[in-house]
Amino acid sequence: MIVLRSEDEISSMRSAGKIIKATFEVLRKRVAPGVRTVELDTVARQEILKLNGIPAFKGIRVGSRSYPANICASVNEVVVHGIPSERVLREGDILSIDIGVKFREYYADAAITVGVGRISEEANELLSVTETSLAKGIEKATVGSRLGDVSAEIQKYVEDHGFSVVRDLVGHGIGSALWEDPQIPNYGKPGTGPRLAAGMVLAIEPMVNAGTYEVETLADGWAVVTCDRKLSAHFEHTIVIREGGAEILTA
Ligand code: MG
Repeated sequence: MIVLRSEDEISSMRSAGKIIKATFEVLRKRVAPGVRTVELDTVARQEILKLNGIPAFKGIRVGSRSYPANICASVNEVVVHGIPSERVLREGDILSIDIGVKFREYYADAAITVGVGRISEEANELLSVTETSLAKGIEKATVGSRLGDVSAEIQKYVEDHGFSVVRDLVGHGIGSALWEDPQIPNYGKPGTGPRLAAGMVLAIEPMVNAGTYEVETLADGWAVVTCDRKLSAHFEHTIVIREGGAEILTA
């Protein structure tokens, strides 16, 4: 069941979204060659708490495992769920940062991918195509359209530019839990899936690979990597479906 949220609930999620945006602004300035991803985790935690949010990923359970950090920091071939570590960022890396925040019992979730120093032309194109595919998907997310319209738009834009969309991981509804119905694939057919209605809150998150769409999970049980170890990028926004177009809560 897809829950329709009240304006009060949406207002809390908007506050959570603003905390995420502010945290990204701080982190963007910190990302540089020589920085360890665990440092970014500490900075993010401090910023979120300072703004009266709660880092939503820490301790979240998936099966029998509990996520050990405040953010996800996924470098290069890591698609998502990279655990911040002593890994040192190097010039030319790309880093996906995913942040979830809880504010007054409601959640927002967003991700960006940034270059570390100067990055290759291909990496730059991958970031740009992934970010634009998210914007294209959001343009389709309006009252009366179908979820498949959003998914198909993202897939088409990505594949038209020679990249691939991950199949094994999807976006999701969000509200009083971080993951709610519906699942939101980044591939699909127009005119299929649930019809979108005002008040639905969705986390749309294209994960785009430079090579194959196939992914696998590393031995730590969290980090998802591309099977061919080529680069992957990830952008995500939490949005509310409204008449005439979505409102982005994390922009
Ligand atoms: Mg998400």
